[in-house]
Order: sequence, then structure tokens, then C-alpha cells
Amino acid sequence: MVHFVGAGSGAVDLITIRGARLLSEADTVIYAGSLVNPDLLSYTKEGCEIYDSSKMTLEQVIEVIKKAEAAGKVTVRLHTGDPSIYGAVREQFDELVKLGIEYDVCPGVSSFCGAAASLKTEYTLPDVSQTVIITRTAGRTPVPERESIRALAVHQATMILFLSTSLTKVLQADLLAGGYPDDTPVAVVYKATWPEEKVFRCTLGTLHATVTENGLTKTALIIVGDCMGDKYLRSKLYDPGFTTEYREATE
Ligand code: SAH
Repeated sequence: MVHFVGAGSGAVDLITIRGARLLSEADTVIYAGSLVNPDLLSYTKEGCEIYDSSKMTLEQVIEVIKKAEAAGKVTVRLHTGDPSIYGAVREQFDELVKLGIEYDVCPGVSSFCGAAASLKTEYTLPDVSQTVIITRTAGRTPVPERESIRALAVHQATMILFLSTSLTKVLQADLLAGGYPDDTPVAVVYKATWPEEKVFRCTLGTLHATVTENGLTKTALIIVGDCMGDKYLRSKLYDPGFTTEYREATE
């Protein structure tokens, strides 16, 4: 049996209770060493075999799983944040299906949720944005043209950029060209929820300068949008004048 487990965004106590239990029961753990906080491995039991997938190919990962399965062992494949976001999990699922190996998935706190907590912000503010775009800048990994930053920027929704910290020059230009104003609030969150977390607030016009001046190249999220400004409307949900299924309006 293979359990794909979301490790959470960094802090060791941000893994789910289920994820921590699965880790503690695993005979073999394959973790994404480039991103997962290694302190999470303290949940594993004595004698657990540990592999760092940042030094492995898909084929090598599958080989380790195959051997563990043949020996009747339980494997945890530990991915950073939530496995469904840039986790390269689908190709692993499909290989396991071909081999007839059973697997399941335990979700995790994605780094974009960790970053919202660090920023103490809400991505979906009434009258500001009701949409969160999760994307990345095209670099060595291409992005479909219809999802170009310029095309997505037209919406001026809350935008969260993964895997883009080393590409901020072109990112800034594309976000501006797509329609976000120069003074749009931006936050760059480095290692959200890790002990060494750092938060940088700037505007779209100063994004590239902020990232380069602070030497940020990876493990950071860039959050763009007026959700980090100070104008918004109150929610209807908690408005005394608004009747809901659970509460009568009092005004
Ligand atoms: N599955 C992960 C994302 C993996 S892609 C998740 O759900 O969070 C790797 C990228 O995620 C990094 O380049 C960075 O942009 C972002 N990232 C991962 N952990 C982060 C953290 N703790 N703080 C800020 N960004 C993080």
C-alpha cells in the first residue's frame, strides 16, 4: 500500500493528524527533499527506510515502491503542501495503476494557505475579488499559451504565483501589461510557516526590485491583488440586515 501524504507548508505541526499517523506507520518514506521540512521525518519509526526524491527519477521512485510492495511494506510518498498542486503525482498514480499497486491520498495544507495565515489575509474579499488564480510563470517548464500571465491578469483577481521567484522581471512586466495597476499590493512570502519564514510587502511596480534586493530565488510565493489593500465590503453572511438559512435579519 502506498499513501501519498501532503506534508503541509513547512511547520512540522501543520501536517494532518492522519498524515502524521501514516508517517509513523510507514516502513518506507520517499520525501521531496528539496521542499519538505526534514524535521517531519521525526514522525517516522525506528528502522524506516528514507529516500529523498529530489535526487531520483520517476522510474527510481517507482522501483523503490515496487520493492517495498514485494516485501509487503507500507510506503509513504511525502509531498510538500498538498500533493495536488505542482506535485507531479498523476504520473506516479498512473504507474501504480499499471502495476496493480494500491494507493490513496492524504491532503495537506498547501503553501498558499500557509502564506495566507502568515499574511493574516483573506484572498476572497467581498467587492474586491471572489476568485483565486493559482498559476506559475513559464520558464523551463512551459505553460499553455491560453493561460499566459497576461491573459490571466485581465481578471485582476487574487493571483498566487508558485515557482516564479526567479522570473520576476518578466512576471512583473506581464502582470502590468495584462492590466493590474502599478500600485497593486503584492506580498512575497518566503518559506511560509517554516521557522525561517520571511514576508516582504511591496507593490507590483517594485516586485522585481524587492525580490532581487532580498536575494529570493526559491521557496517563495508571490501574491498579487487588492485583497491585501484596505478597501472591501462587509460580508453578507454576517450582516445583521441579511437573512440566511440559519438566521433571521434583525435590522
Ligand atoms: N504542493 C506544494 C507546491 C509544490 S511546487 C504546495 O501545495 O504548496 C513548489 C513551489 O511551491 C515553490 O517553488 C514555492 O513557490 C512554493 N512553496 C512551497 N512551499 C512553500 C512555502 N512554505 N512558502 C512559500 N512558498 C512555498
